[in-house]
Amino acid sequence: MVEQRERSLIILARIQAVIDGLIVLGVFSAYIWGHNLLDDIGAWLAVALIAAIGLVYFLTIHQVLGRRKLALSVLILTLVTATCVALLIATTDGLDSPYYSLWLLAIIAAGIFGTTETVVVLSATIAYYVYALIDEGFHAPYIRDHIIQLVITLAAAGLAEWVHSRGRRLLTTNNKLASLSGQLSEEQLKAQALMNNMAEGVMIVDANRQIQLFNHAAQQLTGWDESSAQHLNYNLVLQLHTVDDHEITETNDPFITIWNNNQPVSRDDLVMTTQAGHKITLNLSISPIADNNGGVTGAIALFRDISREKEIERQKDEFVSTASHEMRTPVAAIEGYISLATNPNVATVDDRAKKYLDKAHETIGHLGELFRDLLSVTKAEENSLTAKIEPVNVGQLLQSTVDDMQFTAQKKSLTLVLQTATTVGKAISPIYFVAASPERLREVVMNLIDNAIKYTTEGGIKVMMTGDAKEVTVSIIDTGSGIAAEDMPHLFQKFYRVDSTATRTIGGTGLGLYLCRRLIELFNGRIWVESKPGEGSSFNFSLPRLSDDEVKQLEQQVAATNNGGAAQPGGIVVPNAEGAVTGPAIAPKPIPMPIPSDHESTYKRYQIT
Ligand code: ADP
Repeated sequence: MVEQRERSLIILARIQAVIDGLIVLGVFSAYIWGHNLLDDIGAWLAVALIAAIGLVYFLTIHQVLGRRKLALSVLILTLVTATCVALLIATTDGLDSPYYSLWLLAIIAAGIFGTTETVVVLSATIAYYVYALIDEGFHAPYIRDHIIQLVITLAAAGLAEWVHSRGRRLLTTNNKLASLSGQLSEEQLKAQALMNNMAEGVMIVDANRQIQLFNHAAQQLTGWDESSAQHLNYNLVLQLHTVDDHEITETNDPFITIWNNNQPVSRDDLVMTTQAGHKITLNLSISPIADNNGGVTGAIALFRDISREKEIERQKDEFVSTASHEMRTPVAAIEGYISLATNPNVATVDDRAKKYLDKAHETIGHLGELFRDLLSVTKAEENSLTAKIEPVNVGQLLQSTVDDMQFTAQKKSLTLVLQTATTVGKAISPIYFVAASPERLREVVMNLIDNAIKYTTEGGIKVMMTGDAKEVTVSIIDTGSGIAAEDMPHLFQKFYRVDSTATRTIGGTGLGLYLCRRLIELFNGRIWVESKPGEGSSFNFSLPRLSDDEVKQLEQQVAATNNGGAAQPGGIVVPNAEGAVTGPAIAPKPIPMPIPSDHESTYKRYQIT
């Protein structure tokens, strides 16, 4: 558009130079040939002189100034030419002048410069009309003769303004477009630089599951170069498998998950086969790219190689597992022998020695608990937590667990009550069944009640059971210290302990809630916490409720398996939270324990299988 305006100005300058030249030539010829129109020689000479100035200006100054300030130079030339034409018209019968059409040209030319210039030229023209009408004494035939001329003049001004405003609009749009395209390419460069310098592989996949963008790190990780990977299906390039070398299916393909759910997905349990055939474990985060209506039009995937981290983690877990396993037996034996030593029916020790032995017994109890927790955690990590599933009457399980925990609560002068009835007064307790392992579910409830007792100094603990047709929910509500909002999202993570003076003085491993989560997830349930610092906490879990028919069916299955024996020893094995079947359950291996002491107060939190 800028070039178009420049071109118009250049053409306008040339037309004016031609007009100026013709005027000079015309006046000169008329003078030479003694033409009778040359009555007013002074005015004609002035016209010729101004035209000559215009012509000389065009040939000299305009050639230099026009290069740097074209619009200004053409404006000066236009003023000179317009003055010349105005004088020519005035000299040759004013409005009746045969040169009036040249004036129309001046009006249109003004449009190229802008509205102001058009208005100035048009005002001068109308002023001249008014002057001519006054001069003619508003003679009606004169007005009639010139009305069409006035209309044409106004039309020319209108045309000039239209040309100008259109040009201006186009210019604005063009300028905006130019600046936008500049910004866009700048942003594009920045994004490209950013992506190519990222340590993570970045891949953008379109709605047809084809790769659109593939950064340097992605090329290095996969072994595919960008040009070969582009427009290929992401599956061909990433070749994802599960860690246990199963093909990715529609149901566990993370890309398909985000397409279906429009939610980001993060996985670190997938293995990619590179172009050279190497297998690397990936940490893969995929986010959907949505259009204005929220429809998924693509996905952006970030991935990095975590094979080394996984290997270190595996070695660490293996070490912890072996060490805990090896130490569990001697610790259990020490615990047993101390129990024997402090049992008056078996041994005689003086009061002082008994006090020390009691302390030793308590400490060794904690140590045993730590090893058991560690072993369960490593099992959970290896997804080898197994459970024999059967219908569990939740109310009954809660009742027996609460009974067992009464002593621990009483030791801290806390109340521990169970509320299973929904109606107050005439209490009718509903019977809810869930599919779970009774031992494992008991571990969860015990752990939550134990925590509630541990972190409560006064008041009490209420265990509640509620349910509907679909779910059974158990809540363990305490009047304890409560938990800060920033700690709550982390409570169910491995080794997470709230860092406070209270927790520092109370022993613990930070593994209990993690195991509770793993076990509840194993039974297809969910676990969560609600808490207010200073007011107490409510730890809750929900499990799918079994209908009467489902209870019967499951009971029959359990009976059949128990009778069949060999096929699946020890009952039905459920898939773990990741959906993988965990293999047949192994019967618990007894830990060599001497006769239990009378004052045995610690319970076994986890039965190790
Ligand atoms: P541990 O009790 O062995 O430290 P858990 O995994 O059982 O480990 O609990 C993790 C953390 O959650 C605890 O350290 C404690 O800070 C907090 N917590 C758990 N239960 C409660 C509760 N009922 N009231 C207050 N804090 C709790």
